Amino acid sequence: MTDLTKLTIAEARSKLKSREFSALELTEAYLGAIDAANGVINAYVTVTHDKARDMAKASDARLASGQAGALEGIPLGIKDLFATEGVHTQACSHVLDGFKPRYESTVTSNLWADGAVMLGKLNMDEFAMGSSNETSYYGPVVNPWRANGSNAKLVPGGSSGGSAAAVSAFLCAGATATDTGGSIRQPAAFTGTVGIKPTYGRVSRWGVAAFASSLDQAGPIARDVRDAAIMLRSMASVDAKDTTSVDIPVPDYEAVLGKSVKGMKIGIPKEYRLDGMPAEIEALWQKGIAWLRDAGAEIVEISLPHTKYALPAYYIVAPAEASSNLARYDGVRYGLRVPGKDIVEMYENTRAAGFGREVKRRIMIGTYVLSAGYYDAYYLQAQKVRTLIKRDFETVFADGVDLILTPATPSAAFGIADQDMNSDPVKMYLNDIFTVTVNMAGLPGLSVPAGLDSRGLPLGLQLIGRPFEEETLFQAAHVIEQAAGRFEPQKWW
Ligand code: GLN
Repeated sequence: MTDLTKLTIAEARSKLKSREFSALELTEAYLGAIDAANGVINAYVTVTHDKARDMAKASDARLASGQAGALEGIPLGIKDLFATEGVHTQACSHVLDGFKPRYESTVTSNLWADGAVMLGKLNMDEFAMGSSNETSYYGPVVNPWRANGSNAKLVPGGSSGGSAAAVSAFLCAGATATDTGGSIRQPAAFTGTVGIKPTYGRVSRWGVAAFASSLDQAGPIARDVRDAAIMLRSMASVDAKDTTSVDIPVPDYEAVLGKSVKGMKIGIPKEYRLDGMPAEIEALWQKGIAWLRDAGAEIVEISLPHTKYALPAYYIVAPAEASSNLARYDGVRYGLRVPGKDIVEMYENTRAAGFGREVKRRIMIGTYVLSAGYYDAYYLQAQKVRTLIKRDFETVFADGVDLILTPATPSAAFGIADQDMNSDPVKMYLNDIFTVTVNMAGLPGLSVPAGLDSRGLPLGLQLIGRPFEEETLFQAAHVIEQAAGRFEPQKWW
């Protein structure tokens, strides 16, 4: 029999319907692949073998009785940030040790309602803070991709590093992920997978551990554009439990795939051409421009003048919100408790032992920028900059631009424990230079693989669209995917 784990969601969906194999067989194939690979890749922090089998059997019963949902029998990995009832949910932090929620996030409820099967929880940067998956309490994830002729272990990106690695190494058919500043798109670019951060409000945040609530948004990481479209349709919903979710019908994103981009106006922002940007990134961008032009799109140069302030403003807004959101981890309500002589010392001991270095850094920055003497100078100023960034995008969209094309990341995947990248936190933060603007403006952004660099590592292009026009992103991403081809790592694990 062919390797079932190599099938895309769309392929598995039709073969399950025609009963070529059962949901249980498909799930067993994934569980076997995970058990063989996870010791090396470290993408999963928990594998829910029994739950997966039970869910697959229930799917088989529904398939047999003709009641199949949109994702019936499709085995998925879930980022550890999503609450899953009775199952390990720790945001890959020590402070949530042993936490098993009594409730299910809206996103995962939606997926299970559509028949998907849970394989387990995926590794990530602690509380989604990071760009390399190296801040996880559970250790780094290894990128399934390696440079030509090298055995060096590379990062899969972050914070959704487990999601991206699991999808790319065929350890799940698709994965949930979240993106506050780039955590879906950057790991997707580093692993040759497709990731979409939907418009703020498209997907419910209920049951997703909060990092920066005004920026956080969940979305899928998948093998190709079609699979990402299938997953987003199931994940998205309006939700009374998240008042920032928006009541707009969820379209059938798949329906736009194959539709021409003829006449579409695609903006190329000149501010994204950075000094010292690797020539390979520039070349990839030019290739993307040529593909879309050849497909009939009109290419126009645009200006987003406040781009250079996006990263500094993000690193004020995001830590500010994080310092407030993470105040709840106090040793009383969840997870870890380290005793002390009184309650204050218990809080201090718990938080000192429970949070890692990067999370502590964010809490301290956030507390500082929100403090009485500095609020106006930092937080308020950053909020004003955020408005200007949003306005930049509104202006180009008002001028008739349908989509914006940029590189997804300023480089390909780098090494685990890379000296240079870890020498200064700001170097790590620069990974998100092309992605944070999108979160600041609340827009949808998609990363699609577009080629390999000279060392054989995947690179991605980013498409940015108007609010709630995810369809346009899928439509153009499909054109790029058709031109660029598919990418999969050579198996070494
Ligand atoms: N790398 C960014 C950060 O560390 C973004 C993370 C994210 O999108 N969750 O904040």
